[in-house]
Amino acid sequence: MPQLLTGQKALVTGANSGIGRATAVALGRAGADVVVNYVFGPEAAEEVVEEIRSFGVRAYAHQADVAQEDQVVAMVARMVEEFGTIDVMVANAGLQRDAAIADMTVEQWHKVLDVNLTGQFLCAREAAKEFLRRGVVPEVSRSAGKIICMSSVHQIIPWAGHVNYAASKGGVLMLMQTLAQELAPKGIRVNAVAPGAIRTPINTSAWNTPEAEAALLTLIPYRRVGDPEDIADAVTLLASDLMDYVVGTTLYVDGGMTLFPGFATGG
Ligand code: NAD
Repeated sequence: MPQLLTGQKALVTGANSGIGRATAVALGRAGADVVVNYVFGPEAAEEVVEEIRSFGVRAYAHQADVAQEDQVVAMVARMVEEFGTIDVMVANAGLQRDAAIADMTVEQWHKVLDVNLTGQFLCAREAAKEFLRRGVVPEVSRSAGKIICMSSVHQIIPWAGHVNYAASKGGVLMLMQTLAQELAPKGIRVNAVAPGAIRTPINTSAWNTPEAEAALLTLIPYRRVGDPEDIADAVTLLASDLMDYVVGTTLYVDGGMTLFPGFATGG
């Protein structure tokens, strides 16, 4: 029986850890061939590749720093050579370099903006070029391609001590919406997924002690910390034709964090 993404080719950046890893696996399980991008940690990337191949689809790992234009160009060019094309770009790679504003260095500022925002721009641009070249192939998908930006609830929730990260994700919101507006007439769907608090290495200190987890849960109306699979399933659905009329939207996957739970009893 055909699955949600049978015959589609997907690339996931930052796919050897956390959300990217779970997403690459989920897309493979849904029938897509998958490129597993990583920047450090080839062994972890190979593990993801092996897991994806166990579903009977193709996969390979590709090292590239998403903040480097030549590396992103080469990564997508290789994918077109090996898989023939690209149908789904998941711009997931991201990082934090936290500091209070008085202590934040310009290197910390640039590093986060370079990876989280410029990296998404480069990945979206290279995917869009191939989508525009190829157009719609009706047997594969109703759209000419899908770009899914990994954003964060911090695209709308200010976050003291993380101004570089919050600014990068605020930028992702406008990047996504503007690209969606520009590319929709060409049959390309651009959307974002905005995770709340998900158990991954990026935010270990927020959930790895009972005290930290209890404090975190006060911010989550649904009262559980999310798992990478919660995000992976949302991305898979958004990439599929089940969501073909969803264009320029952010899907918040956050247990209600953006419902401003402090106002449930206050305000
Ligand atoms: P993670 O640290 O487990 O994974 C991030 C991945 O990005 C890693 O594989 C890392 O090596 C990769 N990466 C970093 N710099 C890169 C570069 N220059 N080029 C290529 N890859 C690079 O963290 P995660 O939680 O899985 O984060 C994935 C995405 O989800 C990020 O964009 C993050 O901002 C977003 N996010 C996470 C949470 C959360 O609670 N975990 C919440 C909201 C948004």
